Amino acid sequence: MIMNFQQFPKVSLGFFPTPLVELPRLSKALGGPKIFMKRDDQTGLALGGNKTRKLEYLLGDAIKQESDAIITAGAAQSNHCRQTAAAAAKLGMACHLVLGGEEPAQPTGNLLLDRIFGSHIHWAGDHRKGEDILELYDRLKASGKKPYQVPYGGSNELGALAFAEAAKELDEQCHDLSFTHIIFASSSGGTHAGLMLGKQAYGKTHQVVGIRIDKEETGEMSFDRQVLSLANRAATLAGLNHEFGAEDIILNEHYLGAGYGVMGALEEEAIAITARTEGILLDPVYTGRAMGGLIDMVRSGELDQEDRVLFWHTGGTPALFAD
Ligand SMILES: *Cc1c(COP(=O)(O)O)cnc(C)c1O
Repeated sequence: MIMNFQQFPKVSLGFFPTPLVELPRLSKALGGPKIFMKRDDQTGLALGGNKTRKLEYLLGDAIKQESDAIITAGAAQSNHCRQTAAAAAKLGMACHLVLGGEEPAQPTGNLLLDRIFGSHIHWAGDHRKGEDILELYDRLKASGKKPYQVPYGGSNELGALAFAEAAKELDEQCHDLSFTHIIFASSSGGTHAGLMLGKQAYGKTHQVVGIRIDKEETGEMSFDRQVLSLANRAATLAGLNHEFGAEDIILNEHYLGAGYGVMGALEEEAIAITARTEGILLDPVYTGRAMGGLIDMVRSGELDQEDRVLFWHTGGTPALFAD
């Protein structure tokens, strides 16, 4: 099944394909399967990350609609907001970020970068998932702007489609290599839905294993239902004639720890072991937790010697410098 990505307007924001590397020393340290890594921490936009792929389509759509201001939302240390701020700067658009929490005395990590990119920051208290975007949208519109809403985490059909295209990029890069599992951090669901779509479209056999990061639910639907619904809507948009059902989604919820953004021993060990065996940085919120999950799955025997595991590095390293 061929997906036609050209029908959607796209703007170039990063350097693709991102590298695919093997991690032999990590593999050996764990006494486990062969481990590979897809380096989306190296997308090239403002210190990189998985949101770059989604933004190429989302901001392509914003340009098509002749918007002059981008609005999106996230946590104070949102990687998505930082990449959106950089992309808007590159395209000459204003960027408005609705961030959860209160303004800290000293901006650090991603928040410092949001400021350097000249974004307008609106503090939203308890609301870190875009609850206040609509109100800001109306306000900007009333002031004569043409705002464009990028959803929380960039996770709508276009964002998911970008990750179906990423699956194609991986496929073209692998040659005769094949994987038994693709493991990654899943939070707003666009990466997850896109990789499910890509697996289906390109007839792959690997398991698409999302490690859940954030236990807080938004809206009426459970998170796995949201991912399924997004995968189905993205399939429709891409003209892929397939209906995903509950049996198609793998969401591992064992590593939620003390909640979103709270670093524990699992993340700390994963960051240290990956840095010390491979010289690669993970982040404390997403990839540290997902790699912690992978390591635990090796130790528990859920992943074995015969497996060939791809860890999709989704970025986030600026959060290492947050306090
Ligand atoms: C946003 C993000 C994720 C999660 O991707 P979703 O598509 O939102 O599920 C994972 N890792 C990092 C570093 C992120 O910034």
